[in-house]
Amino acid sequence: MGEKLVIKNIGMILSGKIEEPVFDGDCLVAEDGKITAWGREADLDCEGAATTVDAKGVTLAPGLIDSHVHPVVGDYTPRQQQLHWIDSTLHGGVTTLISAGEVHMPGRPKDVVGLKAMAIAAQRWYENFRPSGVKVHAGAPVIEHGLEEQDFKDLADAGVKLLGEVGLGTVKDGKTANQMVSWARKYGIQSTIHTGGPSIPGSGLIDADMVLETGTDVVGHINGGHSALPDDQIVCLCESCTAALEIVHNGNERAALLTLNTARELGKLDQIILGTDGPAGSGVQPLGIMRMVAMLSSLGDVPAETAFCFANGNTARRRKLDTGLIEAGMAADFVLMDQAQHAPGKTLLESVQLGNLPGVGMTVIDGKVTSLRSRNTPPAQRLPEVV
Ligand SMILES: [Zn+2]
Repeated sequence: MGEKLVIKNIGMILSGKIEEPVFDGDCLVAEDGKITAWGREADLDCEGAATTVDAKGVTLAPGLIDSHVHPVVGDYTPRQQQLHWIDSTLHGGVTTLISAGEVHMPGRPKDVVGLKAMAIAAQRWYENFRPSGVKVHAGAPVIEHGLEEQDFKDLADAGVKLLGEVGLGTVKDGKTANQMVSWARKYGIQSTIHTGGPSIPGSGLIDADMVLETGTDVVGHINGGHSALPDDQIVCLCESCTAALEIVHNGNERAALLTLNTARELGKLDQIILGTDGPAGSGVQPLGIMRMVAMLSSLGDVPAETAFCFANGNTARRRKLDTGLIEAGMAADFVLMDQAQHAPGKTLLESVQLGNLPGVGMTVIDGKVTSLRSRNTPPAQRLPEVV
């Protein structure tokens, strides 16, 4: 039996499961970095723990997932020449990052052999090095003209599992993009697309027709990154797509609410996932995912416990990750948080639904405590403790 983690005195367990966002229980047990059991402490085997955490009554949720980041190397981004943005993001409760392309690499290669080499190298350097313990799924090549089916097979064989945003490279037509996305899918590589107007000089417009024709697994930043499509095109995408509908912090907030309201009317809230789209021109947002949860819950009139599912369980399911859900065998990746001091509302959930951020008190990745009281969130009322 491997190393055991017991978390006691949990006030509330958020499950990440949109069909049942709150679980009963005050205790959770993990072994070898995987969730094994949760429920009432009296009913669980808590003996022999290597680490015991007294949650002090705070809320436990699966670690948050950022579905859309642009990492380059280690914990440094050349985009805003900033160090430790991933460590800062961990302090915002995010334990997993998913690359939408390492597009901010100065001198990024655009020839076939060069882009393949960089994708494979980026996958490796984040697999081999987790900044502050954060899981970074990277190595997401941007498709360019000249890629053949064999190239996608080569990438998959080498461990590449993601494509960067379609549309950021030279492929700007739906027919070619669809062909390449289909090759990627055939070899188990997931895809996303840049939806909306150009992000920075050099990128282009991707409209709803191109998104639909390309058929990626994720409709990347459906609310624009930053310029959103006209409302009728966003509604059309919500109606037509079975793909994940990704809302990002660095997009258009009004378009984010339009997406949420449309998805709710269509009974498609299980398709909503969240990202920051940072680092980008808008900078780095260590609390970006928390801010999206609070914004969508408050202005979009979604219960906070449901909005949290957009930030962990929905993304985990859509991205086929072994984290983001309270489920036996899932990675023991958690955020422990409480209502922020002096934030209105009677409970954490009520306070978030009123638009306030929670205070993060601890993060756990693979059953190991990775951070204590957040240096970035407002201070929590109560703080968990390792005993
Ligand atoms: Zn984009």
